[in-house]
Amino acid sequence: MAKRLIIANWKMNPATLKEARALFQATKKKASTVARASVVIAPPSVYLAFCKPSKKVLLGAQNVAWADKGAFTGEISAVQLANLNVTYVIVGHSERRFLGETDEIISKKIKSVLKQSLIPVLCIGELERDNHGAYLRMVEDQIRKSLAGIGRESLAKVVIAYEPVWAIGKSSDEAVNSHKLHEMTIFIRKILSGMCGRDLAHKVQIIYGGSVEAKNALELIQNGNVSGFLVGHASLDIKGFGEIVKAVDARG
Ligand code: PEP
Repeated sequence: MAKRLIIANWKMNPATLKEARALFQATKKKASTVARASVVIAPPSVYLAFCKPSKKVLLGAQNVAWADKGAFTGEISAVQLANLNVTYVIVGHSERRFLGETDEIISKKIKSVLKQSLIPVLCIGELERDNHGAYLRMVEDQIRKSLAGIGRESLAKVVIAYEPVWAIGKSSDEAVNSHKLHEMTIFIRKILSGMCGRDLAHKVQIIYGGSVEAKNALELIQNGNVSGFLVGHASLDIKGFGEIVKAVDARG
């Protein structure tokens, strides 16, 4: 099993640099005792330069441009992120897909991230669940298209964040349950096996995102067959996030 991973996606929060610094320091403190997991904080890009990563707390970005440089107003390249000591880059988050990001663009972004030796965190997940398996086709399609043209060895470096859209931004009671999550991880790994072979597919880290809170973290990490979480709203609550980190670290 790969090293466990907890990524805090702050989204477009907090409102001020002062608050961002305070939250970063407080999260660092919570993560200081973690032994078996990496904690990654992905703040809004305007705060990246002010958040100094450490051995225990790494830095993530919430988005990246597909191009290395040039006339792309408002964009931030993987080259620039690497220069800000970023290690992980979230790519294809559903909130960006809603803004028009396609699997083709996502695939270009992943290549750009890998070129800088950064770690892409590819977000995939169905909009809703149906009884006919259409949601499985959607997930499969996202994986195949988002990872198209990426070499077998590079594929093993990608972290897959399974984030069903219906579970994002809700409460832990509405998150996926560990049984459904476990099933989905098997499905994802089967697709990956077909793309890069069983051995490499088993190296791919699969994490879960979608209303992970202190209340459901332990059950999901113990029985969901994932090696960590992408945490949205609960990462802004330092006490709750600390408990999620503890749960991931404590899993036997
Ligand atoms: C996310 O948006 O990546 C996410 C997991 O959000 P939340 O935890 O708020 O559902």
